[in-house]
Amino acid sequence: MTRVLRQLPRGLAPLADETLPGYILRLAHRLGTAPGDIAARTGLSERPAGLLPLGFLHEVGPATTQVFAQVTRLTPQEVAGLGLAALSSRYGPLDLSHTSAKVTRSVINNNPWAYFRSTRYCPHCLAGDGSEIQRLHGGSWQRLWRLPVVFACPKHHCFLQNRCPACDQLVQFTARTRSLIPRPGDASLRPAQCRAIAGSSRSDRVPACGYSLDSTLPNTASPLDDRSRSALLCLQSRFHALLTAADIETTHSIGMSVSTSQYFMDLRTLMALIFVSWPAGRSYATTPSLASALDAEAERRHKAYRDLQARPGKRHHSRAYSAPPDDAVVTGAVLGIAETLLSVQNHATAAETLFPLVLRSIDRDPAASYYLRAMRRGTSPSLQAALHVDRRKGSLRAHARAKGSGET
Ligand SMILES: [Zn+2]
Ligand SMILES: [Zn+2]
Repeated sequence: MTRVLRQLPRGLAPLADETLPGYILRLAHRLGTAPGDIAARTGLSERPAGLLPLGFLHEVGPATTQVFAQVTRLTPQEVAGLGLAALSSRYGPLDLSHTSAKVTRSVINNNPWAYFRSTRYCPHCLAGDGSEIQRLHGGSWQRLWRLPVVFACPKHHCFLQNRCPACDQLVQFTARTRSLIPRPGDASLRPAQCRAIAGSSRSDRVPACGYSLDSTLPNTASPLDDRSRSALLCLQSRFHALLTAADIETTHSIGMSVSTSQYFMDLRTLMALIFVSWPAGRSYATTPSLASALDAEAERRHKAYRDLQARPGKRHHSRAYSAPPDDAVVTGAVLGIAETLLSVQNHATAAETLFPLVLRSIDRDPAASYYLRAMRRGTSPSLQAALHVDRRKGSLRAHARAKGSGET
């Protein structure tokens, strides 16, 4: 049943690449009320508490869109533009056709390649662009920050953050409330303030952290050397173009033209292979310091994998390798290797280049290697062909046996 809701007294135009929770936060601030109140008044939430379902980050259904658009004076297209689903043609991990169950829930629950429960952010972008409306209510909480392949801000040439500098909690973390906006009933916070609560209290009576995430720290100098930093920022610019440029819909993966959606699926698959086979791909790291950063990350993942194996019951062991890193620099470091591996010009070179990684992954765990390489849905035919080892199975196993257990 479509509820009849009254139009809000004032509207607000969405900012570029803004998420739905970001828009609600700014709209609530403009109207001097709590974001949960806006969610209830715009038909997004049935309850007075105004919990915003996680799935709305991906897409708001047609009926809700109609009500929301009418109450906020937005067009249905503008409402659709607030959702991650609008990016799915560019970014495969958001495409429902690549999931085993075609329901939004599986995109949220089984997909670490989109951040539904927290977000990265750029403090400078949150501070706004100096325009009157952004000076009053802050800048955009961007949709692209929800994608792990976005780890730096091309505009401000800085790496994105994912934790609050004051309380060290994940920003806009939703595990406790299962609402896209934590503390939806709290009208005291500006859109860019940290809404986390210290400790384990669930009560809205306990004050939130309140740190202004749009403030830039006095000493934000990165420990990263200039060459590494520059390489990662260039990589980010290339990814940004693939995600946003109106005139780019395809790119190349192992010498073949592929959709950008497939390309990001290829990067995802290769990232898992790089980690499970580490340090087989170490020589492809852009700089020594990025290789070192990946040494530490891979060691942590190998340990996590062993720990999962040691536990009784069925566990998703391979997730220790397939989930993207939290840290922005480490993310850029591993994606840089994946990009290099995909940049080879033909199948023969790719098969030869990837062979040591495949072999090492089989050494580590044949089942995990197979599973990670079999994550094919949505990947390009060129990568599928390069990772297809069935007809070489005999020689691979012989090769693996010949290597013995000399390497660990
Ligand atoms: Zn920025
Ligand atoms: Zn905080």
